Amino acid sequence: SKAFTEGAALDASKLEINPNAAPSTPLPNDQLVFGQTFTDHMLTVEWNKGKGWSNPVIKPYGPLVLDPSACVFHYAFELFEGLKAYRTPDNKIAMFRPDMNMKRMNKSAARICLPTFDNEELIKLIGKLIEQDKHLVPEGQGYSLYLRPTMIGTTAGLGVSTPDKALLFVICSPVGPYYKTGFKAVRLEATDYATRAWPGGVGDKKLGANYAPCILPQLDAASRGYQQNLWLFGPEKNITEVGTMNVFFAFRDSKTGKNELVTAPLDGTILEGVTRDSVLALARENLDPKEWDINERYYTINEVKERAAKGELLEAFGSGTAAVVSPIKEIGWEGQDINVPLLPGEQSGPLTKQVAQWIADIQYGRTKHGNWSQI
Ligand code: PMP
Repeated sequence: SKAFTEGAALDASKLEINPNAAPSTPLPNDQLVFGQTFTDHMLTVEWNKGKGWSNPVIKPYGPLVLDPSACVFHYAFELFEGLKAYRTPDNKIAMFRPDMNMKRMNKSAARICLPTFDNEELIKLIGKLIEQDKHLVPEGQGYSLYLRPTMIGTTAGLGVSTPDKALLFVICSPVGPYYKTGFKAVRLEATDYATRAWPGGVGDKKLGANYAPCILPQLDAASRGYQQNLWLFGPEKNITEVGTMNVFFAFRDSKTGKNELVTAPLDGTILEGVTRDSVLALARENLDPKEWDINERYYTINEVKERAAKGELLEAFGSGTAAVVSPIKEIGWEGQDINVPLLPGEQSGPLTKQVAQWIADIQYGRTKHGNWSQI
């Protein structure tokens, strides 16, 4: 709506930098815990209805001061993004496909009546933030700087209405590989008693409100020995996502001998994962179409169960920014475990490994792929 385009546009050239007087030294790589330590600086930009975006500021990382009645606390006017920056062999820092995250962030903002912004300007500003804390970007395979752009409504008052004030901020966390000792295949509980997202809902937006309700089902699954939920939807028990990742299955048709890589279609109930998009694109580019079909289609837990029984299930993995790919070894469903075949001593199948390698090579700047790696 017009209210969100009135006033000043987000403008990276207006950036003010207030440097941290006490810069920190990097933690040793083996002490990095995902999302537990943050860099010296953060980026903040205020937005006011009518006035538009204020000058962006990079300042020392620290607490925010907000009115307790601010709408973010009561009605969940909050959205976020997650992307990573990687140290390349020539010691530059490259973000992986930030344009995709900016696009998704703007879609999330528009859906909950928070202001939108120019993608390129925020990418430039995040680049400046990374530059400011460059010495804290860890080095080594599996290590990166996790970036968390966030936007909240800050209007004070308990009336449920359109926020007239917002805060956009970005914080950065140096992170290590999700699995310190290489892949560790996970056990999933196929979950149909709790629903992550539904048609007409907001499952395709990265709103904080989508995440809190998913923790209790995860704890329930964990109490039964499963690390994550495999989220099912509808009477057909369609497979949608796993935990906070998209999910892929590989099958082999025993009649034709043809392989298929499958993930759920983007129908509004699936987060439009940047890693998902990357896996699909790389599989379409690199796998021989005579051997592989790459499909975005509906498929059910019962299809997986039947095809596993016939020996047609090859591999399964989750995809997301944090772990990149996460192999799956077992799926609990109706009191039994569906086994994803793994060779003795292996934590993933060959396709899962191959996909992880393709993506890592681009992320670390060892292979060029269009503008996926942006310095
Ligand atoms: N699904 C959900 C629900 C998520 O939170 C995420 C993480 N953003 C993903 C999928 C994976 O998306 P991406 O590959 O962009 O990290």
